[in-house]
Amino acid sequence: MRILITEDDSALAEALQFSLAQAGYAVDWVANGAAADEALKQDVFGLLILDLGLPKLDGFEVLRRLRRRNLTMPVLILSGREQPEEKVIGLDLGADDYLVKPFSLGELQARVRALVRRGQGSVTPAISYGRLSFDTIGRIASAGGRTLQLSVHEVGVLECLLHRFGRVVSKEQLVEQLYSYDKEVSHNAIEVYVHRLRKKIAGAGVTVRTLYGRGYLLDYVSE
Ligand code: CA
Repeated sequence: MRILITEDDSALAEALQFSLAQAGYAVDWVANGAAADEALKQDVFGLLILDLGLPKLDGFEVLRRLRRRNLTMPVLILSGREQPEEKVIGLDLGADDYLVKPFSLGELQARVRALVRRGQGSVTPAISYGRLSFDTIGRIASAGGRTLQLSVHEVGVLECLLHRFGRVVSKEQLVEQLYSYDKEVSHNAIEVYVHRLRKKIAGAGVTVRTLYGRGYLLDYVSE
């Protein structure tokens, strides 16, 4: 899951980026509204975290342009002041949630989890196929009730495959979901994560199939 942070306060942006990366999200950061508008035209994000007071284009205008392009990605607004009218304008423009600074990183994490869940259209927080179950809030996978020890990247791959169960996911899509702009993208790394993940979910009634030249598919094991 890729998140775009638009925030001109670099100390806050870095704290957000660090906290969300620790939680397993791929996080990109831009410091002005025009850069956010460009990034949103070029890439697909699972969530936009948007400050209102921004250089070049303010947060409201970024949001207005995003919704004009009919993009439905969830948007969490960060506002510097408690101004009720700002909140109303933001929500009217199509923001999904609103946080007033200062806020705790714990609260931000909880809001992000809720928005990501909503954005992916799953009403229940757990996804299950065969004996494999994935808690989308805690991002914990288990097989037959036993918690699987997965790395952050393995969780990212599994999450992506689970949301598209039975459909092919290309390496490019996995790379997109797992990496940020500033990190090196490697198809070999994806192969390694998939290989490890396949071993760890063995016995759960599902497996990751490789479709050469096309990508991967999470599917039931024929028993
Ligand atoms: Ca600001």
